[in-house]
Amino acid sequence: MLDLVTLARPARLDKSEVDELAEVFEDRSPQELLRWAIDRFGLRLAISTSFQTDGMVLLDMAWRIDPGIRVVTVDSGRLHQETYDLMEEVRDRYGIQIEVFYPETAALQEFVQTNGINPFYRSTPLRRSCCDIRKVEPLKRALAESDAWISGQRREHSATRQGVRKLEIDRTCDGRLKLNPLADWSEDRVWDYVRANDVPYNALYDRGYTSIGCAPCTRPTEPGEDPRAGRWWWEQDTPKECGIHWNFEQAALVAQAAAQFDQLLAGERS
Ligand code: SF4
Repeated sequence: MLDLVTLARPARLDKSEVDELAEVFEDRSPQELLRWAIDRFGLRLAISTSFQTDGMVLLDMAWRIDPGIRVVTVDSGRLHQETYDLMEEVRDRYGIQIEVFYPETAALQEFVQTNGINPFYRSTPLRRSCCDIRKVEPLKRALAESDAWISGQRREHSATRQGVRKLEIDRTCDGRLKLNPLADWSEDRVWDYVRANDVPYNALYDRGYTSIGCAPCTRPTEPGEDPRAGRWWWEQDTPKECGIHWNFEQAALVAQAAAQFDQLLAGERS
């Protein structure tokens, strides 16, 4: 819980501190990292969850350390009924308040009036705009008062997440600290924890879903497919990300710089 010692510490960590801590915690358990973060940031720490199994494992672990941990979520307005059912179950089971953040009405209304209710199937820019309005902006609002947040990212999820570290500075979310305590966990390990601790989970997992987002943009996956292959499945060669964990602009700049570098090299060789 928040105490005078916590208050006296600087709220934000710089890059070298984060690099050092990432190394220290790489071989430590998720609970050790959560305990450190709860002690370090108190009420200025939040778990953000979309109630997938990874987030549920973290919620369960953190609740056991501090039942007063702040839990935030984004209701995009397009979630599956099963996700809403799970939110209710979580409230009952853990006796916690879940802070639910919604898209800004005016922005959403204008977007839908201009583009229709399901524009995400038509183009990636429209899909990204929908994700920005319905997910990314509400999460930024949810974390506005936080110095650190906990996410369920794992390296196994997809190619875009292979380099995830347990602590990182979140460039897509105002430079606050992001913690990924399950970064090195496998899918099996997550489910072992769920079963051993009777953690509630989304009923869609029993119907072939391996990653769960908004209803119109998520389908079950086939055996052997990437766990996030069911997200925005109609898009080819775009990151399976909504923008919460992925900075599209930065990635485009890096790709552009790499292409220019390759061109330069090719020019020197010719
Ligand atoms: Fe919109 Fe689909 Fe993104 Fe949900 S996942 S915010 S419905 S584009």
